[in-house]
Amino acid sequence: MKIMVKIGIPRTLAYYTFYPLWKTFLEELGLEVVLSPPTNKKILDLGVQETVNDACVPIKLYHGHVMALKNKVDFLFIPRLVSADGKSTFCPKFLGLPDMVKFSREDLPPIINTTFRVRRFRASLFGFLYKIGTKFSAKKTTIIRGYLKAGQIHKKYHYLLSKGFFPSEALEKLHTPLKDIEFPRPGKEKITLAVVGYPYSIFDPYISGNLLQNLRKIGIGIITPENIANNSLRKMSRRLPQNFFWYYSNRAAWSALHLIEKAKNIDGIIHVTAFGCGPDAMLNKLLELEAKNHNQLPFLTVSIDEHSGEAGILTRLEAFVDMLIHKKETKGEKLSEGIPGN
Ligand code: SF4
Repeated sequence: MKIMVKIGIPRTLAYYTFYPLWKTFLEELGLEVVLSPPTNKKILDLGVQETVNDACVPIKLYHGHVMALKNKVDFLFIPRLVSADGKSTFCPKFLGLPDMVKFSREDLPPIINTTFRVRRFRASLFGFLYKIGTKFSAKKTTIIRGYLKAGQIHKKYHYLLSKGFFPSEALEKLHTPLKDIEFPRPGKEKITLAVVGYPYSIFDPYISGNLLQNLRKIGIGIITPENIANNSLRKMSRRLPQNFFWYYSNRAAWSALHLIEKAKNIDGIIHVTAFGCGPDAMLNKLLELEAKNHNQLPFLTVSIDEHSGEAGILTRLEAFVDMLIHKKETKGEKLSEGIPGN
């Protein structure tokens, strides 16, 4: 029986953007991809133990996911992500991630730390995947086949996200033909909120205190940066006198600006920030000011750290939604019957 080489992917950070691409390509090379389990208290605690105190919580969490994988795999897949659009770079913590992880412990499996730096997406992606393929002695034809297949899956995944699915939902539907997928139909809800921030903060149910799921439960429509087409985001890059240097910060800023300016049906903005995140200190202030300058659009900051609990976050969400209902009702709209729990 052929024993397959196992390669581990931590279920956080760029997982939310690139997992289908990476998984498809690595499997095409004949590797078995092992994904770390969904975040739980044990994983977070392990991450906190393994990192320096002043690291942001997503980086601590990443180390926890590495710990959850380390005894189960032959390799860890931790590419050095430099740029995904040829303009901005990933935050410095992403750039140093393979080294940070490598030097955190001596008992880790070898790390695949190939650099991903996009100038033109397709060509750069091929170069990146080619280097990985050669590390595993793959034939050129195998690499080309994997590149084509992974590129298609990546495109479909982001299409599904742009149509309103959360990453977990898009992943489930990746192999369903488009004609058989029932797409979300936003706009039915009486209150719609933009939830902006980094995908690894927003979409991880544990670290975000189930924020999205709880908002859905109380009948709130949600739009996230992943639901906005790249073209619309790019247009917003001309809106700021100076963009951020960092890829995910720009996406969060541009999506919030797009929704503030273009979408009439946004009742408020929630910015999910990570404790210990340098870029977020600036981003949060910018978004708060933009919301204020746009007819005092209600704005809530939810800061997540290793101690934030679901109950505390839910209480703040409910208070925010109550305020929005009151605001709409004072303008003559009748809402309370339509919102479960109110
Ligand atoms: S952008 Fe902020 S939250 Fe994300 S890795 Fe960098 S410092 Fe951490």
